[in-house]
Amino acid sequence: MSAEAEADAVVIGAGPNGLVAANLLADAGWSVVVLEAEPEPGGAVRSGELTEPGLLHDRFSAFYPLGAASPVIVGLELERYGLRWRRSPLVLAHPLPDGRCPVLSTDLDETCAGLDADVPGDGDAWRRLYGLWERVGGPLVEALMAPFPPVRAGARLAARLGPAGLARFARFALLPVQRLAEEEFTGDGAGLLLTGLALHTDLAPDSTTSSLFGLLLGGLGQQVGFPAPEGGSGRLTAALVARLEAPGGRVVCNARVTRIVVRGGRAVGVVTAGGDEVTAGRAVVADVGAPALYRDLVGAEHLPASVLDALARFQYDHSTVKVDWALDGPIPWAADAARRAGTLHLADGMDHFAGASCDLTRGRIPARPHLVVGQMGVVDPTRNPPGTETAWAYTHVPQKVRGDAGGDLKGLWDFAEAETFADRVEAQIERLAPGFRSLIRGRYVATPPILEGSNANLVGGAVNGGSAQLHQQLIFRPIPGLARAETPVRGLYLGSASAHPGGGVHGACGSNAARAALAWDRLQRARILAAGAAGAVARRSRPANWRS
Ligand SMILES: Cc1cc2nc3c(=O)[nH]c(=O)nc-3n(C[C@H](O)[C@H](O)[C@H](O)COP(=O)(O)OP(=O)(O)OC[C@H]3O[C@@H](n4cnc5c(N)ncnc54)[C@H](O)[C@@H]3O)c2cc1C
Repeated sequence: MSAEAEADAVVIGAGPNGLVAANLLADAGWSVVVLEAEPEPGGAVRSGELTEPGLLHDRFSAFYPLGAASPVIVGLELERYGLRWRRSPLVLAHPLPDGRCPVLSTDLDETCAGLDADVPGDGDAWRRLYGLWERVGGPLVEALMAPFPPVRAGARLAARLGPAGLARFARFALLPVQRLAEEEFTGDGAGLLLTGLALHTDLAPDSTTSSLFGLLLGGLGQQVGFPAPEGGSGRLTAALVARLEAPGGRVVCNARVTRIVVRGGRAVGVVTAGGDEVTAGRAVVADVGAPALYRDLVGAEHLPASVLDALARFQYDHSTVKVDWALDGPIPWAADAARRAGTLHLADGMDHFAGASCDLTRGRIPARPHLVVGQMGVVDPTRNPPGTETAWAYTHVPQKVRGDAGGDLKGLWDFAEAETFADRVEAQIERLAPGFRSLIRGRYVATPPILEGSNANLVGGAVNGGSAQLHQQLIFRPIPGLARAETPVRGLYLGSASAHPGGGVHGACGSNAARAALAWDRLQRARILAAGAAGAVARRSRPANWRS
């Protein structure tokens, strides 16, 4: 990049949201440059070798039900740019110490048969719950992916449910997932599936709205599965980049933006750590966490005190530790069904989920963390040589560690602590898959500092750009009063997961930012045209002896 460059739009950050925004702006005919701090694009959607040459790992995210269902991502037609989705035979499994293993399958009968075999009647209860998803899922996804407030999707939802149905659904949406499980099911299988899904966020089983997250991911899992890109998550990023580059958009890596240039209350460009200046003729879109955007890149002098005050209250979601393994073969789960699922949740029951969540509330590192596990050979056998497997597990740990429920970890996350905690994670799998440890050829432990070090948006190892709790959702995301992509600085738009609707690879935050930029630009141009027309009329109606 030349020391001084220019584009209609500068996008800061080449995560999925930044790349979606860039694509939509380029589609509108704008010249677009994306500046990415890291050596490669993708943000938390990157794959590569972590353990040994030739073995491919998804370094962060791995499964994309939100992407496959998102009208934003679907609308980009990324299949034309090399994306190919792969799916595992079963979407999700929850192996339990007593040998039972509730599963989620894209075949509704298979999901229900499994639940019924455990406790008769629970299959029908799942069918009823999925019936609710079939009624609300479309407008709900549409509402989540649209700028706030989602008027059209809200109206569709209201029309489908009617006043009484809407009130019932509002109650459902607010329910803690643990309560939902008690109300709807006799056995524990379905409740465990839904709770595990809700806990992909920083919610706990007794959190308000955790039922909605369970329904969202459970409904999507039932409907579209949990697909993963053939060849690794990086292929999704590669498709986004290829699509952007086709009309001339550019991604420049190793270009960390350190300042947004604001003149007369308007964002007019950015400065990089290397000292390059890039002028933005029409908009700057930031795929950057809200606190970093406002405090570090814009600066307090350009912001109202109320914004700075609200930012001081911004809450990141829990920290995360992720372990990636290179294995000599598939994980030998004792439960057969677990061998056919791409994603697994490990927790001994609702008490285990609740206990680990309680540890997080108390600032303690869980002694027996509950896990989200991915076994990638089951989803995409093309990734690794025959006879090998790559798998990963992640779990949440506190942002501020005040103790350790299982030993004396301090939350320093140095090499010794990382290894000790990874041993804890492995012990959880070994209990349900005896022999797992003997298959390990190598492992890579991504602690909170390592995650943040490879992507500045993963602050303290937070994976979702900010808490998903109700006090930081909808009109409160990222802060009260700024629930849309527009910011207090004209021409600057927030397009990261810190914005509505939050974490996950769905592209909605980027799309909302691009749409806001395009709408403002159209308005400006219409005003200029209107002013020009008014001027022409005024000139035509001047008296002949008029002088300027
Ligand atoms: C371990 C992990 C597992 C996950 N699993 C899943 C999953 O399976 N499915 C799912 O849907 N979601 C998952 N997520 C969440 C999902 O990946 C994120 O919500 C999503 O990537 C957010 O996209 P984004 O574009 O907002 O930000 P990011 O993907 O974080 O990208 C932001 C980009 O901006 C760059 N950047 C930041 N600051 C600057 C700067 N000043 N200058 C230049 N560049 C900058 C960063 O380097 C980065 O490339 C996971 C996340 C993590 C970390």
